[in-house]
Amino acid sequence: MEPDNRITNIVGASQSDIHNAKIMLVDDEPLNMEVLMTHLEGEGYSNFVSSSDSVGAYDLINETQPDILLLDLMMPEVTGFDILSRLREHEELAYLPVVVLTSSDDSATKLKALQLGATDFLSKPVDASELALRLHNTLAARAYQHQITNFDALTGLPNKDSFRKKFLAALERHESKNGQAGLILANVDRFKIVNDTHGRDVGDAVLYELSLRLQKLFGNNERSGSPEHDHIRQSVYRLEGDKFAVIVPFVSRTEDLVNLVEPAITELAKKYSIEGQNIYLTINFGISVFPGDSSDAEQLMNHAETALLHAKQESSIRYTFYSQELDKKARQMLEIESGLRTALEKKEFFLMYQPKVDVLTGAIVGAEALVRWQHPEHGLVSPDHFVSLAEESGQIVEIGNWVLTEALRQALIWRQTSIPDFKIAVNVSIRQLVESNFTETVNDIIQNSGFPPECLQLELTENMIMENAEDNVEKLNELKSTGVKLSIDDFGTGYSSLSYLQKFPLDELKIDQSFLREVQSPLDSAPIVKAIASLGHDLGMSLVAEGVETHHQLARVKALRIQVYQGYLCSKPLIAEQFGELLNSFHQKAG
Ligand code: C2E
Ligand code: CA
Ligand code: CA
Repeated sequence: MEPDNRITNIVGASQSDIHNAKIMLVDDEPLNMEVLMTHLEGEGYSNFVSSSDSVGAYDLINETQPDILLLDLMMPEVTGFDILSRLREHEELAYLPVVVLTSSDDSATKLKALQLGATDFLSKPVDASELALRLHNTLAARAYQHQITNFDALTGLPNKDSFRKKFLAALERHESKNGQAGLILANVDRFKIVNDTHGRDVGDAVLYELSLRLQKLFGNNERSGSPEHDHIRQSVYRLEGDKFAVIVPFVSRTEDLVNLVEPAITELAKKYSIEGQNIYLTINFGISVFPGDSSDAEQLMNHAETALLHAKQESSIRYTFYSQELDKKARQMLEIESGLRTALEKKEFFLMYQPKVDVLTGAIVGAEALVRWQHPEHGLVSPDHFVSLAEESGQIVEIGNWVLTEALRQALIWRQTSIPDFKIAVNVSIRQLVESNFTETVNDIIQNSGFPPECLQLELTENMIMENAEDNVEKLNELKSTGVKLSIDDFGTGYSSLSYLQKFPLDELKIDQSFLREVQSPLDSAPIVKAIASLGHDLGMSLVAEGVETHHQLARVKALRIQVYQGYLCSKPLIAEQFGELLNSFHQKAG
C-alpha cells in the first residue's frame, strides 16, 4: 500500500480544482469587477461569470452554479444582503461560499452580513494579494469538504453519495435522447474471509489494490459515441466495503458491456501480493441496462443487485445481466436467506449419515454426518445451497456447533448399540476454524458428549487449509491437542502446497469424487487417483475414496490399497433411523 501517493493525489486534485473554480462576481459597478478579474487572472484563475444586474443576479447564480461568489453588499433595488439571505434559504445554494465586498468598514454591516451567512469579507478598495489569499483559502476549504463528502478515504474513489448524484445525472441526460446506459456492480466473493484470515490491514491493502485495477479497467474511459466534453464520464465508485459500481453512461449495444466485463474477470483474478502473501480474489458482476430493464435509478440498482446475487451463487458464472426470471429466483433466495436466521431455533436442520466402508472387508467402520435443512416452504435444501450463505453471514458457526453436538450424540448411541469402535466424521467450515475459540468450543462439545475424541474425524477442505497455510499449521496443531483426528477433504481439487501438506497434522486424506468418476471400466487406470494414493501412503495418511458408485471403481480402489470408501455403491446418505437399520443388518450378518 502506498498511502503517501494517495495523499499527494488528493491535494494535487484540489489544487487544480481551485484554479478551475467557477468564480461569480456580482457588483453594480462593472469597473470594480474588471479590476477584480484582472487581479485574479494574474493568480491563475480564468473561469468567471459576472453580473452588474442585482435584480437578475439570484437567478443567474442558480443557473450557473458557481463554486464561489464575490458579492457587493451595497447595490440599488436588490442589495447584497437580499441576495445573501435568499441564497441561504435555498437547499443547495445555502452552502455556496460567499465573500462579501463592502466599502463601509463599520462593524454593524459586517455583523449583519455574518448573521446572513457570509463566508468572508473584503474591504473596498480591494487589496490584490488579500483577495487572492482569501479566495484561495475559501476554495481550498471547499475542495477539502468536497473531497471528504464525495470520495472514499481508503481507495480515493468517488463514494456512494457521488455515485447517486452521477447516476441520476447520467440517466437524466438520456431522457430526451434515446441512448442506453449501463450499471455494473462488482463484489468480491467472500471477502470477509480475507479479513478474518489475514487481518484488516491486509484486507484494506487488497481493496486498495483492487480499486486501482478497477479504475484501470473501467475508469475514465471515453468511449466512442459519447458526446464530446460531456462531464459524465465512465467511472468507478466504491459503494461500501467490498462493493463497487461502474456507471457506463453511453452504451450502443449490450455487447459493449460484455466486452468491458470479460477482460476484467481475468485481470482481477490475478494474484494480489500483499506483505509477502499471495491472495486470490473472485469478483462477481451484476449488470442492469437503462432503459431496457428500467428507467428508474433505484430499480436499476435493485436489478443489478439481483443479477450480482445470481452471479455469486452460481460458481461457474462470474457476471450476469438482469432478467425477469432472475427476479423470481432471487426472491426465493431471499426467503431462504431470511429463513436461515431462524432455522436453528425452529429445529429445521437434521443430519444424514453416509457409511464409511472398509474396502477389504466391506464392514461399516463409521459415517460422515451431512447436514440437511427442511425448509417449511421449499422442502429439503441441500448444503450446497445454504452452507456458503451461512458462511457469509457467520451463521455457520452456530450451525456447525449444532451439527457436531448432534453427530456425537447419535454416534455414541451407535457405539453403544451396534459397533463399539464406530467413528464419526463431521465437516468443518473455514469460518468455524478462524473463530478464535474454535478449539475450546470443540473441546467443550466433546467433553459434554462423552464421545471419545480419537473417534471423531473433523473434515477440512483442501482449499480452506491451504489458503493462509502458515496460520493454519498452528490452528490445526491446537485442534489436534483435543485428541481428534483431522481429514483433508475434497483432495485434488484445490491448489495444494506439498511442503505444507507435510507440516499439517493430518490423519486422513479423502480423494475427491471427481477423480473416481473417471473410472468407467476396468481398463481405466485412473492415474490421478493412483498419484494421490501414493502421495497419501508416503505421508503416512489413511486414505478414503469418495464417490464410489460401481464395482469397477471399488476394484480400482482396492488395487491402490485405499483402505476406506464412501459412495452410493454401499449407500447414499441416510437419515439416522435408516442408518441404524443398516448398521443392525450388517451387525447381524457379521454376527
Ligand atoms: P462433501 O463433504 O464432499 O460430502 C460428500 C458429498 O458427496 C455429499 O453431498 C454426498 O451426498 C455426496 N456423495 C456421497 N457419495 C456419492 C456418490 O457415490 N456419488 C455422488 N455423485 N455423490 C456422492 P451433500 O450431502 O450434498 O454435501 C455437499 C457438501 O456440503 C459436502 O461435501 C460438504 O462440503 C458440505 N456439507 C455437508 N454437511 C456439512 C456440514 O455439516 N457442515 C459444513 N460446513 N459443510 C457441510
Ligand atoms: Ca466431507
Ligand atoms: Ca468430500
